[in-house]
Amino acid sequence: MSRLRLRWEENTSPTLAAAVARDPVVILPVGSIEQHGNHLPVGCDANSAEAVALRAAEGFLDVERPVLVLPALWYGYSPHHMAFAGTVTLRSETFLAVVQDVLDSVLSQGVRRVVILNGHGGNVSSLDVVASRLGQAWHGKARIVAVTYFQLAAARQDEFRESTMGGMGHACEFETSVQLALHPDQVDMSTAVPCYPRPPSPRQSTDLFGSSVVRGYHDFKDLSPTGTLGDPSLASREKGEMILGICVEELRTFLAEFATWPMT
Ligand SMILES: [Zn+2]
Repeated sequence: MSRLRLRWEENTSPTLAAAVARDPVVILPVGSIEQHGNHLPVGCDANSAEAVALRAAEGFLDVERPVLVLPALWYGYSPHHMAFAGTVTLRSETFLAVVQDVLDSVLSQGVRRVVILNGHGGNVSSLDVVASRLGQAWHGKARIVAVTYFQLAAARQDEFRESTMGGMGHACEFETSVQLALHPDQVDMSTAVPCYPRPPSPRQSTDLFGSSVVRGYHDFKDLSPTGTLGDPSLASREKGEMILGICVEELRTFLAEFATWPMT
């Protein structure tokens, strides 16, 4: 039998059958294709989630319960970005159905531990619904959780953050740093423009680590002329490596814990 590989799609069917019998943790990275200001690629959220998943899963193949990474879902739920060129969105019904069908496939073949690793804020509510629906359908037989990768760094933002609230939102200090670390060739810093948006209520925040007591639809065209929310001028490659390191470390800790969760 061929050697087990990290990426699900690079394995043969018999190799995966043997891996599934070892009760693996399976990660589904989920992103979106959407504008990220003038300076970042539209695949930012998907490539970030996939990179964090692959880096975190490294070294987990030879342990009792291996970690495998499914092919990333590059499309997500991004209607609030559609006013900007390059955005491609699924309808929420389609998005829910695709994620659910992908995960139902592996669950029905015996996978019992699934982590949806999300890279896009607009997906959060839908993925909560999927994790809840599947969790109920597979109750007692499998565990399904959803994690948004940048939230893994929330408690440690003082280690890398220079901007005030509002500086980390979208194509911002945080995401620009991550792209400079992962894909510097796809970043055009000469076109990066900071924007500290003012949502209509002080009870709303556009910051990745802010909290919105009042929630609702915000079209990004109304919040920012370029689509950027936050301050990309504070981004650096070093900061991106630090952020990725924190996200990967936190995810690895969780993966080890999740591998031991009981089924109820
Ligand atoms: Zn993003």
